[in-house]
Amino acid sequence: MNISQNTVVQFHYTLKDENGDQLEQTSGGEPVVYLHGHNNLLLGLEKALEGKSTGDNVSVTLPPEEAFGERRPDSELEVPKEHLMGASDWQPGMLAVVNTNQGQRQVKVVAVEGDKATIDTNHPLAGQTLVFDMEVVDVREASDEEKSHGHVHGPGGHEH
Ligand code: ZN
Repeated sequence: MNISQNTVVQFHYTLKDENGDQLEQTSGGEPVVYLHGHNNLLLGLEKALEGKSTGDNVSVTLPPEEAFGERRPDSELEVPKEHLMGASDWQPGMLAVVNTNQGQRQVKVVAVEGDKATIDTNHPLAGQTLVFDMEVVDVREASDEEKSHGHVHGPGGHEH
């Protein structure tokens, strides 16, 4: 089966920056699972995967504007250290999770002083050109319920 609107796709990926340094990879762990054609994935990745089938490999390079956006310079913020989640001994360069009006997001700690931390609220991958090497591991037709909800149910998807 080929990837098209309303197929449920599983794929592994390796993410590298434009220098070829590896940033993330899923092989050895669980693949990504998503419902194709419902804005669940970066559009550039969905476009690259369109028409592919199980076993296919596809590589795509996304400039920042098609990935996580350009870095905004005015995005540093001082917060109480206790608002940072994910670790306890905070050091500059570490990634933390914070609660915002738009839900949880990942931020980078740029400085720590006393009980305060300065965080950079840009997406950690903002401003970067990203290379995704993907391998399709499964493609199936979505259920009617998944299509109406716009996301995948079951393992790797929504449990409700
Ligand atoms: Zn649902």
